[in-house]
This record gives sequence, C-alpha cells and structure tokens, in this order.
Amino acid sequence: MDSSSAYVDSLRPAGSKRSSKRDLIVNVFLRQEGHLTADELVELIRREDQRISRATVYRTLQWMVEAGIARKVDFGEGRFRFEHSYRHPRHFHLICKECNRSFEFLSSDIEALVEEVAAARGFAPRQSVLQIHGTCEACQTGRPQVTDEGVPELLFARDALRIAIATERSGLDF
Ligand SMILES: [Zn+2]
Ligand SMILES: [Zn+2]
Repeated sequence: MDSSSAYVDSLRPAGSKRSSKRDLIVNVFLRQEGHLTADELVELIRREDQRISRATVYRTLQWMVEAGIARKVDFGEGRFRFEHSYRHPRHFHLICKECNRSFEFLSSDIEALVEEVAAARGFAPRQSVLQIHGTCEACQTGRPQVTDEGVPELLFARDALRIAIATERSGLDF
C-alpha cells in the first residue's frame, strides 16, 4: 500500500467500509498537481472508469474537503477549484486575470499575522484564504515567464519549513 492510501485510510471513520469508487477518485485526485475544477476531475475519473457518475465525484470531493484531504479554492471564476492538502503546505495564491494561471506562494509572515489577529479577538481560525488578483509578469511584458528555479525554490523550501515549525508549535491542524 502506498503512503497516500495509508493516509486516506487513516482518515476513514472507524468501522466505515472502503468504497472502491471513492478510493479510485481519491487516488486520482492525489496524483494531480495544481488546482482542479470538479468537472476536470470528472474528466480524469471517466478516463479510468466510465461507470463513475458525476454525482459520485462531486460527493467524494465534498467528503475530501470535510476530511481535510482537499482544499476548496475560489479564484473568482464563478466556480470552485480543488487542490489536495496531503504533503502540500498551506499557501496563498496570485491569480492572473489575463491567462488564468495561478501562482502559489508561502508566507510565514502572513500566517503569523492571521494568528495574531485571531488571537486578539479570541477567534479560533479554521481556514484563511488570501488571493491576490492581477496580471502576471508574462502577461504584462509579453515575455515568457521565467521558470521558478533556483532562488524562489529555496525561498519556498525555507518558508515551508518555517510554517511547518510554526504550525507544530501552535498545535493548529491545517
Ligand atoms: Zn498571466
Ligand atoms: Zn494552491
């Protein structure tokens, strides 16, 4: 058994039986990177098994959100997108209105600010969403995007580590 299905098993309530359809949907979803719409997931599932209905995919997505396997993100397109939270640290998004691409970033400063604001009001934060809408560099300049290599990659790794440590310390479960 691979570690992602072990992870999914650990989320299943005790005594609930495995559903092979649901397991297939979850496994296909966990193999994707990026931000999928429900219909994009339906397409991917149909390639593996024609018999799985759209309603089953939708229901399973909802279950994954409740179980903490998936995060629902709204990029202001009038429909939700889903990304998995398994081994995928909480992050924020920059969304380009021209090309519709989204860029992820991490910020332990923003995380700390959210906690500070919530704590000041005795508020128990469950989820926070930060989306920055605008125009990406490539769309502004007409030049292809410089790939995220080297320094940004290192920054990402460093921030991921800082957030992991901060999350552990706060005892919050993201
Ligand atoms: Zn763009
Ligand atoms: Zn994302």
